[in-house]
Amino acid sequence: MDYDVKSNLHEVLDTLPQGVRLVAISKYHPNEYIEAAYEEGQRVFGESHEQELRLKHQSLPADIEWHFIGHLQTNKVKYIAPYVSMIEAVDSLKLLREINKQAEKCGRVIKVLLELHIAEEATKYGLTLDACRELLAGGEWREMKNVQICGLMMMASFVEDTEQIRREMTIARDFFDEMKEKYFADDANFCERSWGMSDDYPIALETGTTMIRVGTKIFGPRVY
Ligand SMILES: *Cc1c(COP(=O)(O)O)cnc(C)c1O
Repeated sequence: MDYDVKSNLHEVLDTLPQGVRLVAISKYHPNEYIEAAYEEGQRVFGESHEQELRLKHQSLPADIEWHFIGHLQTNKVKYIAPYVSMIEAVDSLKLLREINKQAEKCGRVIKVLLELHIAEEATKYGLTLDACRELLAGGEWREMKNVQICGLMMMASFVEDTEQIRREMTIARDFFDEMKEKYFADDANFCERSWGMSDDYPIALETGTTMIRVGTKIFGPRVY
């Protein structure tokens, strides 16, 4: 292994205050890297491609909690529904419906986050704040017995300007508070704020994140 996964992992973990969890983003990295982190006690890993996740799920320990962090096509939901722990990037009502449907078939309740689009980049997926308000105001989600909305996820713009990143994450935090008060005031499960990646997670820690998604800083650069 040409990358010191174990010491990198601890370097990240050592900076995390209580109550913040690490999702180790293992996409494009081989099983041996995941096993190295697993040996150190890491159990939550994130992947962004259904097929890659399927292969890793089949060959790695069963107590790994897999988070799906990428853009998920509705026709792929059925493949991950039997085992995925959390789907972090729900960006449409259509996708939410499909997750509920497939989870019901498996007799499961799948945890999800709603993905916000706050970053200025046009290419990023996610719900605008207004679209997210609309989705929750619509109320259909209340009837979905097989999904549990646990909070919000976002990716900040990929820029050097730390003030811009901080601004975007603060918008996400304020929006979380707004949705919490309006729709989830008595639902303790709605508590997760997933922001922060390798380059910007220290800012996320200052803006109320509960979950950081870190890949490169632990596993090194991805080979696509
Ligand atoms: C790849 C990815 C990450 C991890 O990015 P790093 O810069 O490698 O830490 C986090 N979140 C999402 C949604 C990703 O696709």
